Amino acid sequence: MGYEETWRRSVDDPEAFWGEQAALIEWHVPPTRILDASNPPFRQWFVGGETNLCHNAIDRHLATRGEQLAIVAVSTETGVTREITYRELHREVNAFAATMTELGVGRGDRVVVYLPNIAEAVFAMLACARIGAIHSVVFGGFAAHNLALRIDDAEPRLLICADAGMRGGKVIPYKPLVDAALRESRSPPPHVLVVDRGLDPGMPLVDGRDVDYATQRERHLGTTVPVAWLESNEPSYLLYTSGTTGRPKGVQRDVGGYAVALALSMTAIFDLRPGQAILCTSDVGWAVGHSYNVYGPLIGGCTAILYEGLPTHPDPGIWWRLCDTYGVRTMFSSPTAIRILKKQDPAWLTRHALSTLRWIFLAGEPLDQPTYDWLAQGTGKTVIDNYWQTETGWPALSLMPGLDLKPVKPGSPGFPTFGYRMRVIDDATGQDKAPGEKGVLVIEPPLPPGCLTTLWRDDERYVRSYFGHFREVLYSSLDWAVRDADGYTFILGRTDDVINVAGHRLGTREIEESVATLGAVAEVAVVGVADELKGQVPAVFATLKQGVTDDPGDVARAMERRVVELLGGVARPGCVYVVSSLPKTRSGKLLRRSLQALMQGADPGDLSTLDDPNALEDVKRAIRRGPQGGSLRA
Ligand code: ATP
Ligand code: MG
Repeated sequence: MGYEETWRRSVDDPEAFWGEQAALIEWHVPPTRILDASNPPFRQWFVGGETNLCHNAIDRHLATRGEQLAIVAVSTETGVTREITYRELHREVNAFAATMTELGVGRGDRVVVYLPNIAEAVFAMLACARIGAIHSVVFGGFAAHNLALRIDDAEPRLLICADAGMRGGKVIPYKPLVDAALRESRSPPPHVLVVDRGLDPGMPLVDGRDVDYATQRERHLGTTVPVAWLESNEPSYLLYTSGTTGRPKGVQRDVGGYAVALALSMTAIFDLRPGQAILCTSDVGWAVGHSYNVYGPLIGGCTAILYEGLPTHPDPGIWWRLCDTYGVRTMFSSPTAIRILKKQDPAWLTRHALSTLRWIFLAGEPLDQPTYDWLAQGTGKTVIDNYWQTETGWPALSLMPGLDLKPVKPGSPGFPTFGYRMRVIDDATGQDKAPGEKGVLVIEPPLPPGCLTTLWRDDERYVRSYFGHFREVLYSSLDWAVRDADGYTFILGRTDDVINVAGHRLGTREIEESVATLGAVAEVAVVGVADELKGQVPAVFATLKQGVTDDPGDVARAMERRVVELLGGVARPGCVYVVSSLPKTRSGKLLRRSLQALMQGADPGDLSTLDDPNALEDVKRAIRRGPQGGSLRA
């Protein structure tokens, strides 16, 4: 069956479709009912079924692929590569689970995991899954206050952390951050389990509270901890959204629905069969990391390459080299990461054979045409844009090479995946938009398996935040989109990323895309700033590619001209700044909110997710210096 028939069945007869997909995983007790949508917008998948994520990720494979690599954890920071088979993974996860059980963690308890992108993070997550504890992975490197907020929300029984992370050769102590967060927290857990990597010799330890993991591991290696069989709709984990738009939300995932959705996505979307390898450059702390560094590949019997380090260290060919070394078939990364590589010599793209690599999936942000072209042409591989949110847990829009690959249209993540009935509607009237017209992207309930079930302990906020925007009960993605006549969806940016210039509503993404067509430009962010005459005007911030020697003022004015040429005078930037870096979150998303605040002389807001504080300083200096291009240039 091709894409159209399969997708149609998934939305028109969800019970039959997902009932069949349920066979992709192992059940201790099979579900009695595939879908219960009697209490919208809530829904339950695979009701009455009992299963376990850890069992499906590890135990299930021991008989057939025990000696196959499950995880390859590569760190170009410490220089250590660990190759871990399914059998070894089983041993490690059991030792971890035994340790946690001894520390009083049981089914339904929360465990905060604050680790770098290392093998122990995978062990910790799977150990939680094994005993039915609910993990909340907090991206390693979040500031103490941010960690404290998440601790207070989850009220964990245990916190697992490392002595330190590393970035660009620099040791970043984690433990002092944890200690500070626990001092601030209203509900600190009784124990902290510390994975000591030997990076911070001065690591402070608190007697009676802190437990050394290596010692526990020694004691428990060889123990087998029985799997806790969970009802399909029990919570498996919490994951707070990265918060580029405000207070973080505790996205709650289930067990059975998530496992089935991931299993299906592994074959149909990512085109991976058991025994094949995936390199996902995300961090386990993000949604992509949960699904495609850990659970998806392991449920699918694949080999997952986990990477700690910069994309450019020891050289910008490191990811391509890993693809060759481990015979990677599918790579998963983000447009931001590719834009970092794009600043480097393109020769790195052709230095490795890439003979096994078939697909490069990119998600997390709009994929601009220049970046797409650079990667697709430079590697000769099929580059697949896919769209999702922390909330969905797996791609909602994508092409599906494992099922029926449709032609790529650069700039579009393609078509709805299984179970997603999506519409593009008018934000004011809720009416469907015609092809070619811009509207808000919404999903008709029931949300497919894998998507969030609610927000942690806040059903009301779940309903209000996602389903309360229109008269009809629809899940709002809060993203603008347009569908073309062939049914391809294009994402035009977030509904809050809109500039109103003299009554014209302009998406910041359109302006960014037009600036990015200039060869000298590496990265660009556009925000709206207040203007007495027009209400708002666009402010452009851009970095230039390495090796560009043109005068920044000349390039700034070229950007202004290019926007007018492509979008018309109404979009003419008020100011254009050439800067050396742009403020981003640790997951690589541009912090437009902070740029806008700085432009208005306001507080840049919660900066705990900011990757590099220097970027903000640089922007401040540029603003003080005054714009190099734009209609407001003195
Ligand atoms: P928060 O919701 O807390 O503000 P966030 O939305 O940045 O944080 P994520 O869930 O990681 O956190 O990001 C999802 C968003 O990323 C989408 O809503 C969309 O705006 C953007 N996005 C993801 N993939 C794509 C894509 N392929 N094309 C365009 N935009 C994308
Ligand atoms: Mg979001």
